[in-house]
This record gives sequence, C-alpha cells and structure tokens, in this order.
Amino acid sequence: MNNQFEKENFRALIEPDGLQDTDMRLNIIDVFLDSEDHVTLEELMQRLRARGYDYDLDFVRECMNRWVDLGFAQKKEFDGQPPRYEHRHLGHHHDHLICTKCGKIIEFRNEEMESLQEKIAGLMGFRILQHKMEIYGICAECLKKRSPLMPLVMAKAGEKLLIKQITGGREARARLTSMGLRPGDPMEVISNDGVGRLIVAVGSTRLALGRGIAQKILVTLDTGR
Ligand SMILES: [Zn+2]
Ligand SMILES: [Zn+2]
Ligand SMILES: [Zn+2]
Repeated sequence: MNNQFEKENFRALIEPDGLQDTDMRLNIIDVFLDSEDHVTLEELMQRLRARGYDYDLDFVRECMNRWVDLGFAQKKEFDGQPPRYEHRHLGHHHDHLICTKCGKIIEFRNEEMESLQEKIAGLMGFRILQHKMEIYGICAECLKKRSPLMPLVMAKAGEKLLIKQITGGREARARLTSMGLRPGDPMEVISNDGVGRLIVAVGSTRLALGRGIAQKILVTLDTGR
C-alpha cells in the first residue's frame, strides 16, 4: 500500500475542515502507517515519543478516530484488551485469532469460511454488510510453555480439562469430594477473571471455587472432547 498516497488522500479530506494542525496530524499518521501490527493508543504514544513527537493523548485519539471515520484504519475492540487500531486496506478483509494468555493477535483469511458465511446468511435471505470473526484461545507458543499438569487457577475461560490430582490436606480433599470433584472427572472453565472465584461446570452443575481451593486441583487438557 502506498503510504504517501494515503496521506495525500487524508490531507485532501481534512482540508475543508480548516484544521490548523495538519502537519502534526500527518506525523501521527506517518508513525501509525509504519506500524504493521494492531496498535493501542498507548503504544502509538510511545512510538510517537520515540520519534520526538510529544503530543497530547486526546489530540492523538481525536486524530486516530478521524482517520478511522474517513476509512483509513479500523478500530478493534477485542475482549479483555484496550482498543487497537489497524490499517484498513480497501478491498482486503481478514479475521483474527486472539490469545487470551499473552494477548497475541494472529490474522487469517479463509475462503471456505468466507463463502460459508455468505451461504448461511443467503439461506435466511440476509445480506451481509460486514462481519467480525474473532476466535479466542491459546496460541502455540503459550501452549508449548505450559506444563501438562497445572493448577486449575491458571486455566482460562472455555478450557476443557480433566482433574488429575487433588493436593492439600485431607480436609481440602474431603471438601472437594463433597462438591462432587474427583480425579478423572472432566470439567469446563466458565470464567476465571484472575482475582475472584472461578466458575466451573462439572457435568450439568456449575460450581464456584475460591482461588485457594482451585490452586489445589491439578488439571490437564482434556483432548478427548
Ligand atoms: Zn472474515
Ligand atoms: Zn499466547
Ligand atoms: Zn488485523
């Protein structure tokens, strides 16, 4: 994509607004265009400062939002992350895989998936104007780093697990047994916000577990489901 062309295009579109600070705006756009990733406002501020531009956060945000409104970039709000900006190349579309552990964002495009979506909508007489496909999970690097046996507190929402072992004293074990948790049982993590109780599904029951007790339950990925 031709950055100079995009910048001239932007200048032509904002000229009628009579803004006094076009050069500053174009500097922001320059730094943004040099970023090939999905950048947060905070990251953009750091990159601007690294290039010697010490601008006001509100000004940068306003400039980026204008750049988005005019169709040069897209603002993405992935679950659990601050808003991010990415380039918008006219006529090109892609979807995202988001790692809930390290926050990595992987782009992909799959023709089969794209046409399947058109087909599903078409069957219902629905005309798609736009869509977002966001797949949340754990990236290959994060999966590699994790040991086969981990305490339940480290699990992420949506993970399907097998209870391998219950550590701790007899009391803790008895308590878990009374809740119906036994080694070998499958479970699914419904939520784990990293600070409060975990909600897990065991069979058709939802259980709330304190972080202390969840630390004592060792689990492994249930690959059979
Ligand atoms: Zn798509
Ligand atoms: Zn990751
Ligand atoms: Zn993207």
